[in-house]
Amino acid sequence: MDQGQPEGNPVEIAVLVLALAQAESRIWKGEAMGSSLKIQASGTDGATLERALEAAREEVARLDRMMTDWKDSGPLMEINRQAGTRPVEVPRDLFFILKRSLQVSELSDGAFDITYAAAGRLWRWWEKNPPVPSPEEVRAALANVGWRHLRLDEARGTAYLDRPGCRIGLGAIGPGYAGDLALRKMKELGVHDALVNLSGDVVAAGTHDGRPWEISIRHPRRPGEAFAVLPVSNLAVSTSGDYERFFIKDGKRYGHIIDPRTGYPADGCQSVTVTAPSLAFADALATAVLVLGPVKGMELVERLESVEALIVAADGTVSASSGLKRRSP
Ligand code: AMP
Ligand code: MG
Repeated sequence: MDQGQPEGNPVEIAVLVLALAQAESRIWKGEAMGSSLKIQASGTDGATLERALEAAREEVARLDRMMTDWKDSGPLMEINRQAGTRPVEVPRDLFFILKRSLQVSELSDGAFDITYAAAGRLWRWWEKNPPVPSPEEVRAALANVGWRHLRLDEARGTAYLDRPGCRIGLGAIGPGYAGDLALRKMKELGVHDALVNLSGDVVAAGTHDGRPWEISIRHPRRPGEAFAVLPVSNLAVSTSGDYERFFIKDGKRYGHIIDPRTGYPADGCQSVTVTAPSLAFADALATAVLVLGPVKGMELVERLESVEALIVAADGTVSASSGLKRRSP
């Protein structure tokens, strides 16, 4: 071979160099919905990418205002405030996610339940040294938990909690929904290689540097370490864990995900990762499986089409659903 002559077809090389020169990438990192938010986009036009990131961020902020349950105002706050009094008219997006929440409740036999909040607020993991609530307190709160207390009226577009003590919280599905809609905004603006990550809830479209996006799954007991990496393209991945928000009292860990049937924090899993076509669904299912525990949770996953899961049980045993096992090397 001649010295100084590059290998390969010169035309192909020229095309490759051109493609590399034109590929642009943008990342935005910040906070939203009480957690970290990262948005990534790749394409050939920098200005389009900037616009897409901006639109995605605005979309998340819009949904945050709609779904918050701790600020002074907002449609979800209004549903809670009017519990036991009157139905509240809600925006279309909120109505959709409330409806989807009830569907996942039904699917998971009540393990996923946005009315968990009446019992959830007894577990004050956000305080420094919170008390464990008494069994009486838990029992009293449970009277106000149950997804059938939420009545949706499709024709009127209203939501109604039928007991004064009922509360709903969308922490287990709202971020996922916001991720889906943020990604949709970017696609509408012509960006097809993009990713939205809301602390562990990830939805990815297209590819990254010509390859599937790689999503690291956090080790539930070793902060900063990943215990698995999933290659994904046009797929959502959500992880629920007992390690993010919790307190430990007398050696026992009390996490932020409540078993709506008992009013106590679920303790069957350290972490649950679910993949599904939409992030709202993956998000809700990860929470549901964490409540159901490794055996019943995996049974649910295996019953659902296009849904896979990776479960770390309370004792550290890892199990993968059949579709994920087939994909592993
Ligand atoms: P995730 O990280 O998606 O599992 O969401 C956890 C959050 O969902 C918690 O911090 C609560 O706000 C809320 N939550 C807790 N228990 C439940 C439950 N059983 N069903 C639905 N939401 C829940
Ligand atoms: Mg969730």
